[in-house]
Amino acid sequence: MHELSIASAIVEQAEEIARADGADRVSAVTVRVGELSGVVPDALDFAFEVARDGTALANARLVVEPVPALAWCDGCAEEFAVGIPPFFWCPHCDRPSQELRSGRELEITGVDT
Ligand SMILES: [Zn+2]
Repeated sequence: MHELSIASAIVEQAEEIARADGADRVSAVTVRVGELSGVVPDALDFAFEVARDGTALANARLVVEPVPALAWCDGCAEEFAVGIPPFFWCPHCDRPSQELRSGRELEITGVDT
């Protein structure tokens, strides 16, 4: 289950951030998860509960901020949602676009101690 290794990495990184801050407990960690990151938020939630056991995050809450997958259309100078599975075709001018602007994020954006 690949969410478990991701959850373990999140726990490790959050512990490091908290320690650098002089804290030994984390109450919440916020992560941005892109629609195309390949991470299923529900699976990540579950994996996090397993991964946090016995760490500084034992009682921490995982806050997932979903990021929609958006592509940029040069012709329209507008972003459009590519959806799942991703379809890189501008719905406004009916042309292809490969320029993904967001949706692949997988990053910690906040650690509350
Ligand atoms: Zn367009």
